[in-house]
Amino acid sequence: SSNDFPINSNNVNTKKWRVFLFPFFARGHLIPMTDFANLLSTSHPDIEPTMVVTPGNTKFITSSLGKSNSSTQQPVQILTYPFPSIGLKPGVETVGVGKSAESSAIDGAFHMARPGQEQVIQHYKPDAVIADMKFPWIAAIAAELRIPCLFFTCSGSFPILLYRCLSRMRPNAGLHDHVTVLGLPGPEIRMPVLELPPFVLAEEDNYAQYVECMMKTLADVFGVVVNTFRGLELKYCEELENTVARRAYFVGPVSVSCAMDEHSILDRGGEGETGCLRWLDNKEERSVVLVSFGSQSYFRSMQLHELAMGLEESGQNFLWVVRGVDQPEEWMPEGWEERIGNRGLVIRGWAPQVAILAHAAIGAFVTHCGWNSILEGTAAGLPMLTWPLAHDQFINEKLLVDVVGCAARLWEGGKRSTTDMKSELVPRTVIAQAVSRFMEPKGEYSSVHCKARELGVVARSALAKGGSSASDLSRLISDLINAMQSKTCQ
Ligand code: UDP
Repeated sequence: SSNDFPINSNNVNTKKWRVFLFPFFARGHLIPMTDFANLLSTSHPDIEPTMVVTPGNTKFITSSLGKSNSSTQQPVQILTYPFPSIGLKPGVETVGVGKSAESSAIDGAFHMARPGQEQVIQHYKPDAVIADMKFPWIAAIAAELRIPCLFFTCSGSFPILLYRCLSRMRPNAGLHDHVTVLGLPGPEIRMPVLELPPFVLAEEDNYAQYVECMMKTLADVFGVVVNTFRGLELKYCEELENTVARRAYFVGPVSVSCAMDEHSILDRGGEGETGCLRWLDNKEERSVVLVSFGSQSYFRSMQLHELAMGLEESGQNFLWVVRGVDQPEEWMPEGWEERIGNRGLVIRGWAPQVAILAHAAIGAFVTHCGWNSILEGTAAGLPMLTWPLAHDQFINEKLLVDVVGCAARLWEGGKRSTTDMKSELVPRTVIAQAVSRFMEPKGEYSSVHCKARELGVVARSALAKGGSSASDLSRLISDLINAMQSKTCQ
């Protein structure tokens, strides 16, 4: 009923603009979109953002909204629609939280969310909608109601443009080893076909139509909001803005907006374990490497074992977040914990990543190159050692290593692929050498360290008053209010 929706009516003279946001059911999408909703609500008193999710996903939003003001009314509202029934246990609704088979089922059910979303929009008639790019049909529903629709992308301008070019080229893995991406500004981008997300390949026919629709909608919607900042990928932002989208807003890194509240930074996206921050307090500045692979990566036990041995052999301090292990201790080498002692800390489960990255003891970040993680690492001014595993992660690595220069590949030599079965095991000696070389302050990677530090300053100033992301956010708000006032959706 409409009573589910708490309408804020403190000031009857002021029109509150109700903006509904629809994130996809994965933490890498829920978290940045919640950050963005927070940003919207704190940037304009008359904008009232509502996160629209399935019931099992509300906890990831409330944890990111912070506990400190839970007694007062949250400026960001939450509204739910039922999770599509696909035979999973109630509450199992998030990619990367349960078993991997459940995750694939949830991932595959994204199009079934449509009727629930449609009902919410038809019923509440918001003034504008902001849809995860994975839900392109929301644009059509909004157009019918003549309300503006923005896309929110959980990746950067470079990966979006690359998808766009590749979905036209449709490389064939059976015929080519490498592909040179045509139609991009900047340096020539050439990538092994094995490193591309399968859905851009010619043989993945069932995705072709969907990707095409997503790309077409990208150009048709009122505007596109990208969690990036111009200083990171200027050429690609300009290309997206000038030749693809009607309007584009580069408002990131949105993770920094959650730093406004000490509690939300610790519990962002889950229950953050905070003992690790006290452990870091006793380590020297820039002496610890954070090793973390995002919210949904799965490793084979054998690879975890090699990684454990590699970190041991590296001789470096490390904080390692281990997730998604069905047999928790199978990977752990005998006597490993005792040998490591206080030099390393393993977090099982969820870590307060943004708070860890901001800690002075962290000197480098071994990352799977999820877009959120690389932006968070960049904002913290940290050099990154890249170990991509799937999806757009190799593309993001390409940007960081070969275009920007704030990261280095952990392993250049081996066979790597977005499909786990086609990837070679990364051996412990490779890991040990890469980590120890990367941590040397004046070693062969000093220019990478320097670039990363520089970029951290650029990222933070983009968000400061007058910075590019702050200006883009103001422009977004004024364009959106204008459109809502004049009831135009173009
Ligand atoms: N994250 C976190 N703690 C963890 C693992 C992940 O806070 O233990 C957060 C991380 O800060 C980021 C998000 O989860 O905001 C993961 O998004 P990303 O795009 O990096 O990777 P994905 O999980 O989508 O592969």
